[in-house]
Amino acid sequence: MKKKQDRYFYIFAALVALALLCVILIVAVTNRGGNGSSAAPSGGAASDVSPAAGAESGDASDYDSPTPETSGETSGETSAGPSTETSSLPEDESSAPEQKEKPLLINKDHGLPEDYDPGEMVDILARKDRHFQLAHADMKLQTEVYEALDRMCADAEAQGVTGYILTDSFRPREEQERLYSEMPAGIAAPPGYSEHETGLAFDISAYSKNGDFGETPQFEWLYAHCAEYGFILRYPQGKEDITGYSYEPWHYRYVGVEIAKEIMSAGMTLEEYCGD
Ligand SMILES: [Zn+2]
Repeated sequence: MKKKQDRYFYIFAALVALALLCVILIVAVTNRGGNGSSAAPSGGAASDVSPAAGAESGDASDYDSPTPETSGETSGETSAGPSTETSSLPEDESSAPEQKEKPLLINKDHGLPEDYDPGEMVDILARKDRHFQLAHADMKLQTEVYEALDRMCADAEAQGVTGYILTDSFRPREEQERLYSEMPAGIAAPPGYSEHETGLAFDISAYSKNGDFGETPQFEWLYAHCAEYGFILRYPQGKEDITGYSYEPWHYRYVGVEIAKEIMSAGMTLEEYCGD
C-alpha cells in the first residue's frame, strides 16, 4: 500500500517537473523573438548554441534563416570584425621597416654617409637564448638584423641544420682601421667603406672538415633560405667584377625580405639591384 503511494508521488513529481520544463522552454522560445515554432523546442535549443559558436568563425550560412534582426546584427558584427583586421594588416606591413625604398649600398666606391648611425645594437653575447655560437665575445648587430638572424638559425635547427658560428658582425671605425692596416692590400675594405661598419652585415661559418664553409650543408641551407629572412649573399661567385670582392660564402647582408627575395631569386648583386 505504501509502495503504491510512493509510486503515485514519483509520477506526480515527474509530471510537475516536465510541466516546469515546458514552461521554461516556451518562455525561452518566445523571448528569442517568437519566431521559432513551439513544436520544435529542441531545435530552438540547438540554434541557441550554433549561432554563438558560428559567430566567432564568421560562418554566415547559419544566420540566413533566423529572424532578419539577428542576421542583420551578426552580419554587421562579422563584417566589422574582419574588415578592421584586413584594413589594419596591410597598413602594418607597409609601415614595417622593410627598407623598401633603396638599400644602403656600401662598396669600394660607395662609403658610409658621414652621419651614418647604426642605431640600436644588440650585444649578442648577452643573448643566451640565441640559436648560433660566437667565434668571439664582442659581437653586435642592429636589433632587427639580429632578430632575423636568430630566427633563421632557429628554423634551420628545427630542420636539422645546426652548428652555425657567427665569426664577425659590426665593426666600429677603429677596428676597420686596424684591419685595413694589418691585412694585405685588397683584402679588407678601407675604413668607411665596409658593410661591417653598418651593423647590417655579418660573417657566418660552421665546422667543416676542410674549412670551406661553401661546401657545408649549413651553407647550402643558408643559401636556399636566407632571403626568407631578409638576407642576401653579398659577394656571389662569378660576380667579382661587379662587387669588387672575391666570392665570400660567409658574408651576408640584411636588406629586408622583399628586396632579398628579388635579389636572390634573380641571382643578382646589390650593385645590380641599385643600378650601380
Ligand atoms: Zn664580412
